[in-house]
Formats: sequence, C-alpha cells, structure tokens
Amino acid sequence: MSVRLSYRALSIKPSATLTVAARATALKQAGKDIISLAAGEPDFDTPDHIKAAAITAMREGFTKYTAVEGTPALRAAISDKFKRENALDYPPSQILVSCGCKHSIYNLMMAVLNPGDEVILPAPYWTSYPDMAKIAGAETVIIKTGLDERFKINPQKLRAAISSKTRLLILNSPSNPTGECYSRGELRALAEVLLNHPEIIIASDDIYEHILWHAEPFANILNACPELSDRTVVLNGVAKAYAMTGWRIGYAAGPKAVIQAMTILQSQSTSNPTSIAQVAAQAALEGEQAIVRERCTIFKERHDLVLGRINKIRGIECVAAQGTFYVFPNVQGAIGRMAGVNNDVALAEQLLEHTGVAVVPGVAFGAPGYLRLSFATSTENLVQALDRIEGFLGAK
Ligand code: PMP
Repeated sequence: MSVRLSYRALSIKPSATLTVAARATALKQAGKDIISLAAGEPDFDTPDHIKAAAITAMREGFTKYTAVEGTPALRAAISDKFKRENALDYPPSQILVSCGCKHSIYNLMMAVLNPGDEVILPAPYWTSYPDMAKIAGAETVIIKTGLDERFKINPQKLRAAISSKTRLLILNSPSNPTGECYSRGELRALAEVLLNHPEIIIASDDIYEHILWHAEPFANILNACPELSDRTVVLNGVAKAYAMTGWRIGYAAGPKAVIQAMTILQSQSTSNPTSIAQVAAQAALEGEQAIVRERCTIFKERHDLVLGRINKIRGIECVAAQGTFYVFPNVQGAIGRMAGVNNDVALAEQLLEHTGVAVVPGVAFGAPGYLRLSFATSTENLVQALDRIEGFLGAK
C-alpha cells in the first residue's frame, strides 16, 4: 500500500542547494575527485571561545528546556547587538530565537500568510523562500532582475508587483545568490513605495550583513525608513558571521504581535532552540568581533581571485559582488555554444561530470542562465576549480 502524503508535502521540492551539496559529498565519498563550489556555509571553524562557552554550559548542566523564545541572556545579547551594530531598538520582548534563521523565516511566513496571499520575491532569491511561502499556502509574485540591473529591484518594479493581495515582501541584502547589496538610498526609494501600502509586511533577511565590502556601511530598510518599524521583521542569525551553521541559531525582531504569534507557533512545533547552542550564540555576539572582520577580508580576497579568473572564461560574464561568499555569473554564452546543453542545470551537470566541480544552477534561485559559485573554500581549491572550468569551457 502506498502512503498518502499531504498536498503540502507534495507541493514543495527539496532545497536545491542542499541537494547539490549532498550530491558532491556523496561523489567525493565514493572516491571521485570533486571540488565543491556549492557550499552555503563558511569553510572556517567556529571560533574556540564560542565552543568553550558551549562546553562550559554542558558541564554545568545547562542541558534542559529553556524559555521557548530563547534565554533572557541571549535575547538581551541580541537586543544589545541591534543597538550596537544596527542602531535599532528592540527590547528582548520583541525578539524570538529559533533553530536557525531559516526557522525564523519559516515561523514568520506561517504567522502572517494565509492561503491566497501574495509574497513578493525579488529574483534571484534565496532558494527556500518560494517553497516556504507555498507551505503557508501563499502565492509568490516574482520580480525578475538581471545582471544589467545588478540584480536589484527599483520602485517602479516594486509598484508594478503590488496587488490588493500582497501581504509580504522579502528583501535579502547582501543577497544569496548574487552578493549584491542595496544602498541606504535605494532602500529609501523602495520604502517610499511601501509607505503607501500599510498592509504589506516587510521581511529583511540580514544574515550576510557582516560579509560585506560595499563602499557604504551595512543598512537595512529600517535604517533607511524607521517609519516602517511597525510592520518590518528583521531576520538574522549567527551561522554565516561566526561560522556556526551547525549550531542552528537564528533570530527575528519585529512588532510585538508578529513576534508573539511566531512564538506561539514555535511553542507548538519545535519549542526552544538547543540550550547549549544558545549559550554559544550569546558568546559569539558578546565576544571579540575582530575575527568576523578578518574572515570577511579573506572572503573578499577570494572573491577578487574568482572574479578575475571567471571573466576570462569563454561564455561567462560576471559582475563584482559587494559581499557574501558567492558570485553569480551569467553563463548563457557557454550554454549556447555546447551541443546538448540547453540550460544551466545541464551545464552544471556537465561541469560536475567532466571537471568534478560542483556548482548550483541559477534556476534554483529563480534565475535560469546563471550559476552560483561559492568561494567558501580554500584558495587552492578555487584555483584548481577555475583551472578545470576554464579547461572545459575554454578561455576568452
Ligand atoms: N537566509 C539566507 C539568505 C541564507 O542564505 C541562509 C542560509 N543559506 C539562511 C537564511 C538560513 O540561515 P540559517 O543557517 O541560520 O538557518
């Protein structure tokens, strides 16, 4: 007898990025010479002082349930972080800690979306947003952007995407997968449109805030337009800045009613995030921040290396990223020249098969004709991977 699954489960697909990364790992384990540029996580280790805090917590028996919304100490540390780094004033009562920023975003969508509501997603978008919206029963309205626009939406495009059903807009800057970042002025221009639509909630996914080499300091839409604070939810976490992807700590800050609804959902699903991971996250936020900047400098050096090399490969065109650990080249030229290769998925498969280099096809981010390359790996791996791709596709 075949098991009957829910429409919800049947309507969504597995995360494309996790799938490619898992395939690359499986091939490697099978003895294949694979270089993965598919990773969505820093290759660095979690700093020692953060690990030490978790070990102490474990030894001291901090191994029980905590408050659903996170420990008072961690929420106080997050509240301080918002003041110190973002000039935002959130009391702990407006902060919810969850099992990764992904969980924070999921809680938000489940708390504010009803079937039939529309979620505006600028594309290229992070691969999980549309499927999460689908789980909530909502429709996605995609605003396409290209390399010529540096993958950013403008007020005209935003205005055109808004309907009476629009309930949520998701902004992610610096962006996964493009590495592009909105300036404060660009965000203010988008905010001017949103001020005319009080029914729209804005989600600001700031998870890459610290991996940034933009000319201007990081700003989110609330910095650009504090008037939106009664309907903006800021989402962040420790995964990318502190190389803590496995610890699963993310957080959301926003209007009391939204945070409360998210907390109730969390109380009936996962409860609190792991107690010792919360202590580790607190140590990350309260500890020495120099390592975050040092690692960002390393990512920038790798970015420059990759950008220089990739633009010398035939059929590939790539603009400089402003942050993150990704570049997002247009590979339409390469696709057009190869017999039997009609799209980015086929090109990524050819690259994996013939060069052993794993990359994620752009279609996973709503942008066919592109590839996402992660440079969260050693310089040695990057040079070798680019040698192989150039050997396969040819030099310009
Ligand atoms: N938002 C974006 C844009 C991301 O790239 C990721 C991680 N890939 C997340 C959220 C989720 O982060 P976490 O690991 O904290 O769940």
